[in-house]
Amino acid sequence: MPIPEETIQQILGSTDIIELIEGYFPLQKRGQDYWACCPFHSEKTPSFKVSPTRQGYYCFGCQAKGNAIGFVMEYESLDFPSAVRRLADRAGITIKEDEYDQKATKENLLKKKIIHINQKASLWFHENLLKSNSSEASEAREYLRQRKIDIQIAKNWTIGLAPENGNIFKNWCESQGFNNEQMVASGLMSYRDQEEFSKGVYSRFRNRIMFPLHNDYGDTIAFSGRVFTPQNKLAKYVNSPETLAFKKSNVFFGLNKSKRSIAKKESVIICEGQLDLIRCFENGIENVVAPLGTALNEKHVNLLKRFTGQQGEVVLCFDSDSAGYKA
Ligand SMILES: [Zn+2]
Repeated sequence: MPIPEETIQQILGSTDIIELIEGYFPLQKRGQDYWACCPFHSEKTPSFKVSPTRQGYYCFGCQAKGNAIGFVMEYESLDFPSAVRRLADRAGITIKEDEYDQKATKENLLKKKIIHINQKASLWFHENLLKSNSSEASEAREYLRQRKIDIQIAKNWTIGLAPENGNIFKNWCESQGFNNEQMVASGLMSYRDQEEFSKGVYSRFRNRIMFPLHNDYGDTIAFSGRVFTPQNKLAKYVNSPETLAFKKSNVFFGLNKSKRSIAKKESVIICEGQLDLIRCFENGIENVVAPLGTALNEKHVNLLKRFTGQQGEVVLCFDSDSAGYKA
């Protein structure tokens, strides 16, 4: 059953496109309309116009256009029912789940599942860090304490710990009813043998401090795992692989918390790692992000410019050696 037309109209009626788009990046008011550099093509001067009277957007550069639903579809790469659902959630309007699910593609359902798994896993890793009496958990807590990350800060950022024994996490996943295919799709597990899936899966993150990564909505979509023991000679950071829910060039650690401050200050400071970022943020320097690899590309800079504005400043704050970074 498709979403009823009157529900769609109700959702559009409860959504202000200016407010919606400003949730993603700042708009500049000029005359009646609002302007920004187009999120759908690369440009240096704004040709993306949003009209509050028409409740629509139009790009004079690439001719992208649409209403609030069209914007969410384009920007979030969602199909029509998923975009409608996003806006319905935002407006507090309920669409009956069965009406929605019948229209949703298999891929979108898997994407939802991936987010669900990552959200639950982040809480599990967090509990494990705070409460486990394993020796690695006390070591991890001590490591954080020495770096001035106390319990409250760990809670603010849902910092977690992936146990050294990957089977503990794997068993928990199974107890939650997640199957191997879903776990691999979520990025948290890998197949032991890429050609023979029947050989099972293993935990990608072991004995690492886990930093959840978020999308614009604050959903946990992936992780960055950091080593914390000097004897551990593995890559300093390991990130989730790209999944249906996680595209590396679209994500900075911390951006979900810092975007308002970045837009307000028209300035962003790029910190080297998660811990640097958290310390800055907790000490009142809130316009900070940390990349998920050392190689900053044009897409990253464009993403940040959406928040700082084209004239805004991007400050690099890298000091120590970052050769251990595995992008
Ligand atoms: Zn455009």
